[in-house]
Amino acid sequence: MRAIPERLLSVLSDYLELTKTNMSSEDQDAFFKNEAVGRLSMHPRHIRIRAGLRVRKESDGGVFSLLPAEWIDSLYDLSIGDGDRVWVTRGGFRFHETRDCKALADGQSKANAEGKDTYNPQFIKRDEAIRYGKRPCQVCKPSTKAFQ
Ligand SMILES: [Zn+2]
Repeated sequence: MRAIPERLLSVLSDYLELTKTNMSSEDQDAFFKNEAVGRLSMHPRHIRIRAGLRVRKESDGGVFSLLPAEWIDSLYDLSIGDGDRVWVTRGGFRFHETRDCKALADGQSKANAEGKDTYNPQFIKRDEAIRYGKRPCQVCKPSTKAFQ
């Protein structure tokens, strides 16, 4: 077994999902060595997917091509546009990187059990969440810096 860091495997899995293709193990090796793939791996998955959807090109047979260099450029473009977002609830003190964060779900069940109001999680801009005084969740550990 080759030891490929989890963050790179996660970019590969996004790539395969976006292109609806498979990749030989030699191609995977080249993929993991691609500098753009390394940079993509530093960003949250939901941003990567959004960025990839913008620049993938449809080929015959329902598959897509996606160049890692264009993918990372698209991701940087997105950050200049509407910025990246995090999950919050009105009653919660924390913000979350992912909608399926366990702490987010636990917070809601706890509020529920205590008879407090629960709110549907909102996907808001990271800098807004910080301005509202929300703190980063200690489970999913979102960045406290606005995406750059
Ligand atoms: Zn969280």
